[in-house]
Amino acid sequence: MVKLRAKCIVAGDAAVGKSALTQLLRSDGAHFQKNYTMTAGVEIVVKAVSIPDSSDSVELYLFDSAGKEVFMDMLEKQWGEPSVLCLVFDVTSEPSFKSCAKWLDQVRAQCHSLQLPGVLVGNKTDLSARRAVEFTTAQEWASNQGLEYCETSAKEMENYEAPFQSLAQAFHRIYQERLEVIQSLA
Ligand code: GDP
Ligand code: MG
Repeated sequence: MVKLRAKCIVAGDAAVGKSALTQLLRSDGAHFQKNYTMTAGVEIVVKAVSIPDSSDSVELYLFDSAGKEVFMDMLEKQWGEPSVLCLVFDVTSEPSFKSCAKWLDQVRAQCHSLQLPGVLVGNKTDLSARRAVEFTTAQEWASNQGLEYCETSAKEMENYEAPFQSLAQAFHRIYQERLEVIQSLA
């Protein structure tokens, strides 16, 4: 039984639903949750995720910035090095989707690890009449960037755990791969 910890940066333009998604995780009554509010404007929500077909778990420390997304330089200093990335846009906002490339560059620039598992999240699927970014467009871009793609509605509480399950599993896989390499050397 292994318990891992991963630092998950929740990035994306203002008002796409980053806080709505992380706050849903906080409230779902998982067995072990701690929450912090930092004076620097970053809220940390802790979410424990069980890894299927194992007794292992990953505790995700979700870093949610408190609405100062324009100051990317400042955020970089607050974030430090991430282990996984959750990149959020609003499916009714084309600009918020376009910004994802910029966010990804920013986060990768400060990431020294070769593997940074990430998910792209298209949020607000409940606003289907106002959808501006097609599923396949987003999925294709995500796939080209090596990201998983999920769609969610924080408002309808739909699929909101999926991105975090996927990130925890990807992080766990990398851990196991590294362990196997180390064991093969021994
Ligand atoms: P953040 O700036 O990315 O943290 O965005 P927030 O979580 O503060 O959400 C911005 C606004 O979008 C708020 O008014 C939320 O109620 C709303 N919102 C968030 N998620 C959804 C969603 O899935 N559907 C709809 N319709 N509104 C949402
Ligand atoms: Mg927020």
